[in-house]
Order: sequence, then C-alpha cells, then structure tokens
Amino acid sequence: MLIDIITALPGIVEGPLDQSILKRAVGKNLVRIRVHNLRNFTTDRHRQVDDYPFGGGAGMVLKPEPIFACIEKLQAEADAEGRTVDEIIYLSPDGERLSQRMVNELSMKRHLVMLAGHYKGVDQRVRDQLVTREISIGDYVLSGGELPTLVLVDALIRLLPGVLGDACSALSDSFQDNLLDAPTYTRPAEFRGLEVPHVLRSGDHKAISEWREAERLKKTSERRPDLLEIEERRPDDAGTEMRTEK
Ligand code: SAM
Repeated sequence: MLIDIITALPGIVEGPLDQSILKRAVGKNLVRIRVHNLRNFTTDRHRQVDDYPFGGGAGMVLKPEPIFACIEKLQAEADAEGRTVDEIIYLSPDGERLSQRMVNELSMKRHLVMLAGHYKGVDQRVRDQLVTREISIGDYVLSGGELPTLVLVDALIRLLPGVLGDACSALSDSFQDNLLDAPTYTRPAEFRGLEVPHVLRSGDHKAISEWREAERLKKTSERRPDLLEIEERRPDDAGTEMRTEK
C-alpha cells in the first residue's frame, strides 16, 4: 500500500510515523508513506498556503493552488507508472464517520492520498473537484487534520498482512464482528489478591474460546447494545473482510 499525506505541518505527522508499529511496517516495506509539505507547492513568495475567507468571518482557509498542484503531481506520477490513485481523502469533521468497517474496506486499497486541513478548512473547490471521500474521526473539532490522518493511517496499517506479529490479533479486536473485545490479563496470575480467571490458565483452548466469546457478548450488550442490533440486521458481513495480500 502507498499512502501520500498532504499537510502544511509535516512535523506533526512525521514524529509518530517514526515510532513503534508504524515505523516497523515502513521498515519492512509493508507500506510506503510519503509526507508532502504543502508549502513546497505554493508559488507565493512567502510560501503562504492560506488566505482570508471570502465574505469575511473568522479563520483562514487553505488556498486551492498548492493543493491542486500537489495532487495533480501525484496523479501524473501514478499515471506514468500505470498505477491508480484509489481515493483522495479529506479528513473533515463533516465527513463520513470513521468506523472499523470503513477501515477494513480502505485497507484493501493500494494507493490512498490523505489531505489534512487546517484553520477554517480548505477551499471548497478542492473538495468539489479533487476529493473522492471525506472522513471524520468523530463529532468534535481538532485544530488540524494531521492527527485525524494519523488515526486513519494507524488503523489501516495494523490490518496489513505482516504488520502485527499475530494476524489473528486484529480479528478479535473490538468492532470486528460488531463485538467489543474480551478482558485481557498477563502475569502474575495473582496480583494484590486479584486472580486471573481460572479458565484462562486451564490450557483448555475450547473453554477459553467460549469464555472469551461470552465475555465479548456480555460487554457489548452492557456497553454498546447498538452493535448487536447492527449484527442482527446484517447477516452477510462484507465489513469484516480484510486484506490478505500486499
Ligand atoms: N470549519 C471546519 C468545520 O467546522 O467543519 C473545522 C475546521 S478544523 C478547525 C481544521 C481541520 O482539522 C479540518 O480542515 C480537518 O482537516 C481537521 N479536523 C478537525 N476535526 C476533525 C475531525 N473530527 N475529523 C477529521 N478531521 C478533522
């Protein structure tokens, strides 16, 4: 998978990409991530990428020229190499709400471009002409699209084959199968008088699996009964499909 991130503040995304699972995934060539500084695509003498909003009002708006220049360059490169840009994603609070189902679907794409907005957002013409998908990470507003971009990148990358040590781990996480995850414990078996459930130490894999399933159902019905309703409504679940090849 190739991910292009377009931002006016590359420093915010570069740090986390250089840590832990994301860093290892890039190091093992399971994903290529390129960060593009919007300021390198402006013809403005002061490298300014924002301007005042027409009609007045608070906040600056990211100008269309550098964003068009950057995305057109990426598109031309992809065309020259016979690749397709699958989606040009704008992270925005008024976009489609990010879900595990959406992450599963996007993890099967080969080339994603992600645009981080800033200030008041981006010029609407960018959204109308270039963006193919708008995604929100939740009903709250952050100051920039860099953290939402990282949220999406992290959620995607951990699903790519070879990224997690145990491929099954992601399958039992919350929201896969529309269930929350079961409680987890590690050593010591007893800590301050608190014991790990006996079944998890029994070595009986069938009993452990049944216990986990029951715990997942119990927690989901207590905390997120809405997820169980989704499950009942959708017998054939395409959303749990995950990528199996690079
Ligand atoms: N004026 C915009 C609105 O009210 O919808 C908010 C702009 S916000 C201050 C600046 C940038 O942060 C946005 O362009 C977007 O890229 C990003 N952003 C903020 N909250 C977000 C969220 N919940 N999901 C995705 N992106 C978000």
